Amino acid sequence: MKYFFMFEGKEEHFISKKDVKKYPLGSLFFSFFDINWHLIEENAQNVAKKMKTDENPHFLICPFYQETLSLLESHHPMLRQMMSNYLEVTINEIYGDTLPVASDFTRRFIEHYPSKDMPTQVYNDMFIAEDSQFPIEPVIEVAKQFVEEFIILIQTLYRFYRSLQELTYSVLDRAGAGREMPPVRRLYLAQKSSFAPYLEAKDLYKLIGFERRLSPSIQKSLELNGYIKVNDNLESEKIEAYSFYTSNDIRAVVFMEFEYMCINDYAIQKCENCGGYFLPYSSVSLYCDRLANVAGKTCKEIAPTMKFKNTVRDDAAKLLFDRVNNKYRMRTKRNPAYYPKANYEIWKARAENLLSKVRAGELQLEEFERLIGDKKKAP
Ligand SMILES: [Zn+2]
Repeated sequence: MKYFFMFEGKEEHFISKKDVKKYPLGSLFFSFFDINWHLIEENAQNVAKKMKTDENPHFLICPFYQETLSLLESHHPMLRQMMSNYLEVTINEIYGDTLPVASDFTRRFIEHYPSKDMPTQVYNDMFIAEDSQFPIEPVIEVAKQFVEEFIILIQTLYRFYRSLQELTYSVLDRAGAGREMPPVRRLYLAQKSSFAPYLEAKDLYKLIGFERRLSPSIQKSLELNGYIKVNDNLESEKIEAYSFYTSNDIRAVVFMEFEYMCINDYAIQKCENCGGYFLPYSSVSLYCDRLANVAGKTCKEIAPTMKFKNTVRDDAAKLLFDRVNNKYRMRTKRNPAYYPKANYEIWKARAENLLSKVRAGELQLEEFERLIGDKKKAP
């Protein structure tokens, strides 16, 4: 299950199923930085721990899988693909060629239970009816093995993230070390001086392949609807050759994008509002296009107004609170079994109390951010 990707101008292209999808350059790279890998690992560790004593450990995987998948997807579809690939590999390892129907149901169970796509009744009919021909043991085994291996994956990604963070600061961050030089020169220096984070990342080249595919003109369809559907009616389509990099390892994809931005001198910077990296439109850009509040406004839209009001600190704290609060509220609403409402209420009361301390000038914004458990805490 390889990733196919290429970069062109200020765009990244990925093949997902049969579609070629196009996103602004850096989308994957920035998503990789935005995600709190540490928190995902913590959640996975909790699930793994609970599984050890639970009578039906396979039920524990469902909310974890579904929550994490939708979190990853909200950042970048390729990260979603990474997780679903992992599940598929685990299922193949456990079932091999035996019981194809049961292995398919196992996947559906983890992806959908309990929902209208996989109601309890369907689960019962499949696995626990007295005359069921499908044993439950492999399902449990898939669940356990998936979590264990997923934890290792996340740890690997986190280590890579730390190393890439250092490399980015030295090479691609407009305000980073060596800022007086363009990224391509800084990258050259990193290479020449055998800068450790560069050498580590460079090893990922070994995991990159190359493939050329013939496809109906991507550009035409991209202009129409943002992506191309390869349909069967090819008579009138213009066929073109497209070159893709391939890899099984998401780190390699992220690194290639990083390198592409370096080589093309697309220096990045941190948003003055949310602190996330973004590719600035021009040298005066200060704010990114991430959603900054529940009303659907981006940093770019709200930040200048905030400065105008001269209440930057208070508003930033409130926005931060709104964002985290909304996230926690939604997940409690979606999945009360996994995120009990009582826990949310306790968190909220505490966060509101801390917010008033920020407003009174008793608590630093950064400390507030850390205490309410937002993802952008300093590593
Ligand atoms: Zn921002």
